Amino acid sequence: MEQSQAILTGTPMPFCPGCGHAPSVISISKALIELGYAPNDVVMVSDIGCAGLVDPLFNTHTIHGLHGRAAGIAFGVTHGLNDPSKKVMVILGDGGATIGLQHILESARRNANMTLLVLNNLIYGMTGGQVSGLSTNEFKDDRHITDQTPPFDVVRLAHEAGAAYSARVTSHKNFVEIIRTAFTTPGFSLVEISSLCQPYGAAKMSELTAWTEEEEVYTNKRSELPPPLIETHSLINDKDVIVPQFESRIGNRYGIILAGSAGGGIQAAGKLLANTGLISGLEATMKGEYPITIGTGFSVAEVILSRDSINYTGLVHPDLAIILTIDGLEKIKDKLTPDTKIIADSKLNLEGYNNVVFLEFGKIGGKKGAVFSALTYWMIKEKLIDKEALKGAAGNHKYSESLLNTMAKMEEHILAEAN
Ligand code: SF4
Ligand SMILES: [Mg+2]
Repeated sequence: MEQSQAILTGTPMPFCPGCGHAPSVISISKALIELGYAPNDVVMVSDIGCAGLVDPLFNTHTIHGLHGRAAGIAFGVTHGLNDPSKKVMVILGDGGATIGLQHILESARRNANMTLLVLNNLIYGMTGGQVSGLSTNEFKDDRHITDQTPPFDVVRLAHEAGAAYSARVTSHKNFVEIIRTAFTTPGFSLVEISSLCQPYGAAKMSELTAWTEEEEVYTNKRSELPPPLIETHSLINDKDVIVPQFESRIGNRYGIILAGSAGGGIQAAGKLLANTGLISGLEATMKGEYPITIGTGFSVAEVILSRDSINYTGLVHPDLAIILTIDGLEKIKDKLTPDTKIIADSKLNLEGYNNVVFLEFGKIGGKKGAVFSALTYWMIKEKLIDKEALKGAAGNHKYSESLLNTMAKMEEHILAEAN
């Protein structure tokens, strides 16, 4: 295992004040640290719902699953990974556990080497407090819900399906210890923790403990782990190793956000920028965001360039924001700080923002080339990355001719501006 580093990113907790998920996150990170796991030793798969908001909090590898499918995804990861020194864990709520029960039972039955943490607040919190399959009848009585169908006991079910270890805890007092036991038990383990949901569930721990099932721990003697998938192959093609060809002055973790509208070439520019970083000897990540209706509305690309490893790929506040349209500005304005350097199209109103350079990028680059002309402008002016690296990345692109033309136009513009 690597040297112990911070398991949590330090990103503020996204939950309502008093939500029980926050202490759960802290307990989970404590257990990992106490066991000597470094962020890169851990693969965390999260589900949908409030419990699934944990991704930005963890500095580990993270995968965000579909509702109820996190256990199935983790099952695939643990099978393909086949490395007992790594920890594969799932964080999901009682809603996700209800929807994905079959994935949980299948993982337990096959003794997949992973730990599933069910944060049970007896309701679907994110969608407004509907009861789940794990809601107890005591809770339903309190809410005057007449349905008296008994809840699933996910701890017992996992045990019956063959889980090596399954436990329920109703207080955070011994949660860290129980998680540590789960994490160190080879094979499948599940821990259910009772969690407060202030607006829709229990507002106080005393209410919650009155409604939840008893604490319990079950074990099955499972010596065998599932056979590894041997017919897997690495996603990294060693024939395509990138050899740095350019210099860069970027140090650790420089975050750039490109914000515009659908059809404005934002995603392509984000990829080009990441490639430019790679051929400049940097690590790079790129995350695209746009509405489901991809032909309309905002389009945002977040790129992180860094000399060191990039663990957490989220970008909370960018160092540089390139903003081309009002759609893009509306989408990202909450991420801007007084320290963010902003390069914006001159048609935008950025009153109240410091540190802004305006230029008519739309006129210089056209609708699709505006973002690329702005990137060129930044590279020439800031010199953090050699503009020849951008030329190199653009030269390998399918639209290389038009990209190189846009670059040339921007270079001419800067020259004319200087004279
Ligand atoms: S709605 Fe409930 S579960 Fe969701 S964050 Fe708020 S308190 Fe937590
Ligand atoms: Mg819930």
